[in-house]
Amino acid sequence: MKIGMSHGAGGEVMGKLISEVILKNISKKSVNGGIGLDSLDDGATIPLEDSEIVITTDGHTINPLFFPGGDIGRISAAGTINDVSVMGAKPLAITNAMIIKEGFNIDDLDKIIKSMNETCQEADVGIISGDTKVMEQDKLDGLVIVTTGIGIAKKGKTIKDSSLEVGDKIIISGSVGDHGMSLMAFREGFEFETDLKSDVAPVWSIVSKSLDVGGVTAMKDPTRGGLANAINEMAKKSGVGVILQDELIPVKEEVKAISDMLGIDPYEVANEGKVLMGVKPESADEVLKSIKKDKYGHDARIIGEVVEGNKVLVETPVGGTRILEAPIADPVPRVC
Ligand code: MG
Repeated sequence: MKIGMSHGAGGEVMGKLISEVILKNISKKSVNGGIGLDSLDDGATIPLEDSEIVITTDGHTINPLFFPGGDIGRISAAGTINDVSVMGAKPLAITNAMIIKEGFNIDDLDKIIKSMNETCQEADVGIISGDTKVMEQDKLDGLVIVTTGIGIAKKGKTIKDSSLEVGDKIIISGSVGDHGMSLMAFREGFEFETDLKSDVAPVWSIVSKSLDVGGVTAMKDPTRGGLANAINEMAKKSGVGVILQDELIPVKEEVKAISDMLGIDPYEVANEGKVLMGVKPESADEVLKSIKKDKYGHDARIIGEVVEGNKVLVETPVGGTRILEAPIADPVPRVC
């Protein structure tokens, strides 16, 4: 058996590789009773005396390196900051390891680092350690960046993706599919016909506003595999069902148009600046209001609720219901 592209595309195929080859061979998967590798959450926790360290790591292979709305520098910073954030921890710092192809343009590298820095500044995050390696021309495609993020939360205040409760409202912090579909449009050469941009952004400000209100039970950033993957993962790990209302899920007109053209479901493609969360029903309106005040949260909505069961269902306005399954793999490859 050899690795295929879908082994890195955030769906069932990747999940199988992780459990059968990676998890199986690692002995110590958590420290101090914290959330560890086998939870397959957005990050891990190391509980200390009265706080918890949250740590996460991410490799970035996005193609192309520069795309509408961002570049590999911004996504490397935001992706890692966001995985720390959705664990309920304030992101403090990232590290930056770069593997660069021989012959890579230094001006481009300069732009990428500036962009990474700006993104970190937005979230008041430091870049405190790094590594630079170069590989021969024919051995690497441009640039690969690996970032590790570290954050901190009060003890017992971190938030898992596996703790949805029946009755919770499901909130999405904005429109879905922007990142994956803008990347697809760009690759297919439609970029002059659309203003669509990636949503890549740090979400800590959205998360912290929500946590200030309270009542958040579970969180995830719907990256590879999009909303469909994230909500299915949350529901499955929590042992609950979810009913989403199709007409309440925000999808930009441009995203709909490109999706129709390419036959790709916008619910299945990556977002890079969104938060999906479960919130206790009595707090949901208040949390929604606070998210809407954030510059990245104007289009936030309550899109459904948690029910007993083991499926994610989508109800359409005409009364139909369909099962929303996790995609086998993200339909758009090398998206982050
Ligand atoms: Mg994540």
